[in-house]
Amino acid sequence: MSDVLNLVRADLAGFGGYSSARTAKLAGDVWLNANEAAWANPGDADGSCRRYPEPQPAALVAALADLYGAQPEQVLVGRGSDEAIDLLVRTLCEPGRDGVLFTPPVFGMYAVSARLQGARAIEVPLVDTADGLLPDIDAVIAAAIDSNAKLVFLCSPSNPGGRSVPLADVERVASVLAGRALVVVDEAYGEFADAPSAVGLMHEHANIAVLRTLSKAHGLAAARIGTLVADADLVALLRKVQAPYPIPAPCSALALAGLTPQARQLTGQRVQHIRAERRRLQDALAGLPIVRRVYASDANFVLVRFADARGAFQALLAAGIVVRDQRAAPQLDDALRITLGTPEQNDRVIATLRALKATA
Ligand SMILES: *Cc1c(COP(=O)(O)O)cnc(C)c1O
Repeated sequence: MSDVLNLVRADLAGFGGYSSARTAKLAGDVWLNANEAAWANPGDADGSCRRYPEPQPAALVAALADLYGAQPEQVLVGRGSDEAIDLLVRTLCEPGRDGVLFTPPVFGMYAVSARLQGARAIEVPLVDTADGLLPDIDAVIAAAIDSNAKLVFLCSPSNPGGRSVPLADVERVASVLAGRALVVVDEAYGEFADAPSAVGLMHEHANIAVLRTLSKAHGLAAARIGTLVADADLVALLRKVQAPYPIPAPCSALALAGLTPQARQLTGQRVQHIRAERRRLQDALAGLPIVRRVYASDANFVLVRFADARGAFQALLAAGIVVRDQRAAPQLDDALRITLGTPEQNDRVIATLRALKATA
């Protein structure tokens, strides 16, 4: 048994979860054990949805393990990486006692899951440096120890900050917190970054886990397929905590079709294209007098501070372009986050903001 299991809620020791019709490994050619219909629904043309799906479809698990450089037993497939975040918080944190550490301004689901579980939210603000918004690693370690953090979320590249956390920093946090906390590296935008995945650190550090998703670079947000790569014993337990049959069959079929060698190659080309567009948008915006700062980005978006962020947001909206208003986020009261679109869409963003110069 792995040491990482010591981080799990004590009251979940030996938890078996729901025993579904797919739990027992039985063999037969007439399946009458799950109260499924004997005929397919007329809307289900190929009959692929008549039976409950495999809880963790083996072919999809294998494809994701290959994609992320992991072993199949280290892979948990969830309904988006959002589900994996929630499972981790519920499985590791005892309400009212344990904490979840994250680094605002950052993706909101860590706080939401912590709140729903009654776990303490431990916030260690990102520091605005010449290289961008980055975590203060010493402060993260100190706060995690002081406040009984069971989970430390490092978003890398971070949303909305855009920068990757250096792997050496991830490793340092994991070594110091070994036996105390699981360090979860959220790589939702990892495809767009230069740095390799923290999955490569997991042989040395069992208390590192990595979140990935098909929602961003792979263009399958509506399929809701997210992946947690973690210690195999922890994954086995999380599979019991997860709802029965969590992955709808049409979604796993879509994900498999999106991960063929040809599909992966095309996705790779599109990532390169977005990276080139990122440079172009950054260069175009950096020269505008209405822009205070364009942040470096390792993701498929750019964080920009404006002299008048509200005005810029409204001007873009008037031109039919919806960007993310970050003004309510800590440290970002003058910032917008702009997702990279097609070259034509990015041109429209640039032209709209250029035209604003005259009136600003
Ligand atoms: C979009 C996003 C996710 C959620 O991804 P899903 O797999 O669609 O749930 C997770 N983390 C970060 C940082 C994100 O920006």
